[in-house]
Amino acid sequence: MQNFDYDLFVIGAGSGGVRAARMAAQRGVRVAVAEAAALGGTCVNVGCIPKKLYSYAAHFAESFEEAAGFGWDVGHPRFDWATLKVNRAREILRLNGIYQQLLVGAGVKIINGWAQLAGSQTVQVQEAEGPRQYSARHILIATGGTPLVPALSGREHVVTSDSMFDLDPFPQRLVVVGGGYIACEFASIFNGLGSQVTQVHRGAGLLTGFDADISAFVAQEMRKTGVTHQLSATVATIAQEAAGLLVTLTGGAQLMADTVLYATGRAPNITGLGLEAAGVALAANGAVKVNAYYQTSVPSIYALGDVSSKKQLTPVALGEAMALVDHLFGPAAGKPARHMSYDFIPTAVFTHPNIGTVGFTEAEARREFGKVTIFRSEFKALKHTLSGSSERTLMKLIVDTASDRVVGLHMVGPDAGEVVQGFAVAMKAGATKAVFDSTIGIHPTLAEEFVTMREAVKEAVAS
Ligand code: FAD
Ligand code: NDP
Repeated sequence: MQNFDYDLFVIGAGSGGVRAARMAAQRGVRVAVAEAAALGGTCVNVGCIPKKLYSYAAHFAESFEEAAGFGWDVGHPRFDWATLKVNRAREILRLNGIYQQLLVGAGVKIINGWAQLAGSQTVQVQEAEGPRQYSARHILIATGGTPLVPALSGREHVVTSDSMFDLDPFPQRLVVVGGGYIACEFASIFNGLGSQVTQVHRGAGLLTGFDADISAFVAQEMRKTGVTHQLSATVATIAQEAAGLLVTLTGGAQLMADTVLYATGRAPNITGLGLEAAGVALAANGAVKVNAYYQTSVPSIYALGDVSSKKQLTPVALGEAMALVDHLFGPAAGKPARHMSYDFIPTAVFTHPNIGTVGFTEAEARREFGKVTIFRSEFKALKHTLSGSSERTLMKLIVDTASDRVVGLHMVGPDAGEVVQGFAVAMKAGATKAVFDSTIGIHPTLAEEFVTMREAVKEAVAS
């Protein structure tokens, strides 16, 4: 049998790569991971974690305004962007260190440098001392994604989410292009922190793919907080002028900005990896094609996470990594092998207010099940009876009429992600509306509304 340097060589120490490397090493096999930038990847360095920290920072603006109704005089709060940036950077550095400890502790060899395939079982890493090759029985591509900015006149003036965390100076006027997760989250965050935000989106509604009620409702709530929306609008040109960046829309309308953020999707990170030379097949969008076991067209090469892009979410990359390790090296002692299921993946959008969602949208459910029953509740949260805020909450259940199974659960409201996570377990277990109805609520909470919806607003039949 051929001797390899490693049993598993992972390219990319992000969410999926770190989890796969660590879990594989815990099975007693020899593992190396190559990383060209900071340990932890997108999520830790320029994604979920810093984004959520900034979202917390932005929520204070609402809390200060709402405090007066509860008897508090908080004076004139002042936001210091430099303090937030320094504190975030310190926390991210701490997390980078924890990732290093976890990998080293598990026995994983960390190799710093850009890696590329040099064969079906060989990886070349551009290390500080020069290029070096390693052989491996299995290679895992976990290189994530990278922001995609379309061609346009003035493209050199725009930034992507990667640059938003360290902007200098703070953008008083921010134009955000896009209507997806990142655009909506950053529009809310910077609006909360004090920027004047205009979000420009080519579609008539935000968040394509989300339940139409939810998209429309969150757009309305975002506008109440001060975000301006230019919908069905596209950017024609961006030019640097003395007063700032002049953004001209195709209809002729003009906006002046200090920063223009493009959040128009993320592409699989495959440039310079040597995939084609190695014979690794790609999908039309550049994603690495894999089978149900994350194996590419080259049997010794695997791929998971954003680079093979079924769903670009950290928990998905983690789930795929654990399923792959069990497949390649066997499950942990006494545990069954894990498989990744793509049904009922819950997700949150950290807009202000948040969105939490799991399962089918109303339109999808109608197509899938034919007849569905819709329960919908829109109300002012108890807190806002005193806070003076005009924020409203929307909760929606979609039930397959024939089986009574709850197949969609959606919410716009405070901490919607926290609320929906628990319900996702019930839905994964196949809970019916009757089970929801027999569940006792926790009073007084927003979440109890999901178990107290009695009157269907409509029965919808596939058209
Ligand atoms: P990544 O985490 O991107 O890791 C890939 C790693 O590979 C990187 O460290 C990169 O430097 C390295 N690399 C790439 N090429 C090479 C090479 N050739 N050699 C060596 N190293 C290489 N998901 C959520 O679930 N919740 C959220 O709230 C959330 N918020 C987000 C906010 C933003 C602004 C962004 C951009 C993303 C967010 N995501 C969120 C998505 C989430 O970050 C990704 O789905 C997740 O990080 C994917 O993990 P991954 O392992 O596939 O790739
Ligand atoms: P999304 O796919 O969510 O959204 C991309 C947006 O850009 C869409 O509104 C799309 O419009 C628009 N768009 C695409 N191409 C163009 C173009 N050429 N010109 C103008 N607009 C365009 O991508 P994001 O970049 O927001 O985020 C990437 C992924 O990262 C997300 O899909 C998500 O999986 C993950 N993520 C998760 C988060 C979370 O879990 N909270 C937070 C942030 C990111 P249209 O709808 O018309 O196609």
